[in-house]
Amino acid sequence: MNRDQLKALVRTIRDFPKPGIQFRDISTLLADGPGFAAAVAAMTDIARPLAPDRIIAIDARGFLFGAPVAVALGAGVIPARKQGKLPGATLGVDYDLEYGTDRLELHVGAVLPGHRALIVDDLIATGGTAMACVKLLREAGAEVVGAVFAIDLPDLGGADRLRAEGVPVESLMAFGGH
Ligand code: AMP
Repeated sequence: MNRDQLKALVRTIRDFPKPGIQFRDISTLLADGPGFAAAVAAMTDIARPLAPDRIIAIDARGFLFGAPVAVALGAGVIPARKQGKLPGATLGVDYDLEYGTDRLELHVGAVLPGHRALIVDDLIATGGTAMACVKLLREAGAEVVGAVFAIDLPDLGGADRLRAEGVPVESLMAFGGH
């Protein structure tokens, strides 16, 4: 399955969650067995040469891609969660959203100096979420070897923001606009 076929499996829902946003809905890609397998295989192929030993999967749709990529690579998977979801002691970073702020957290001790961490999420838009994750991982002492997304919205500049921080970024497909 080529990248155009994968892209055709993503459904666009206009004006969700608010007017003017085109929500790129991966649930239709996930529901297609060959499509989901091809997406995971392509993300795994991107990740392999970066030699990660920890896949950092971002809450919540990042879990769906991060876990199978981790299994395929023989790496561990670590959930980076929104505030208040992790039961143990956490370290966290606050980051700005379009309206308001959010907080991303990791369990203390889940990521350690020497770990080679690869970030996985469904989509990068402004890069605020992924940048918060980079900050957390670096605070914990890990090396951030890269970030892989199913979808990039390049007009929002998130991937370039990460690259400017020295993080290699790749995605399977791109959509123009917001
Ligand atoms: P950002 O922090 O701006 O890069 O936003 C990335 C996060 O928000 C990802 O976890 C996505 O799941 C979600 N997201 C942002 N914009 C969209 C969009 N247009 N369609 C679907 N998900 C989005």
